Amino acid sequence: MPGDDLRTTREALERRRRELLHLARNAEAGIEQIRGEREVEHGDEAQAEEAQARLGLLGEVERAEIARIDAALERIEAGGYGICRTCAEPIEPRRLAAVPLALECAACAGAEARSSEAPPVAPRRR
Ligand SMILES: [Zn+2]
Repeated sequence: MPGDDLRTTREALERRRRELLHLARNAEAGIEQIRGEREVEHGDEAQAEEAQARLGLLGEVERAEIARIDAALERIEAGGYGICRTCAEPIEPRRLAAVPLALECAACAGAEARSSEAPPVAPRRR
């Protein structure tokens, strides 16, 4: 991958990381607020718990993505970014543009897609 693209990718990842950090902090602040409100009024406990769980989950999703971005930034530093972790071939630039955090090339990811969260491929009927 050319150096300029790599720098652009790194900047995009760092920007996304800051956004996520901000969102995760907002989620935490929201939880604190709900806790504070609960001390005042005792009526809507179930509702407050649900909102708290939802915000907690939001924070977790963001923290998980931050961890993946950190891993990608480390790979950029180490020079391994854009290299498939399974077959060690360069990941297709188009795939990387669509999925900047991709760890595998399309072929390897496709092989794993059946057992992971990658988008399902429509079955071919014959
Ligand atoms: Zn591969």
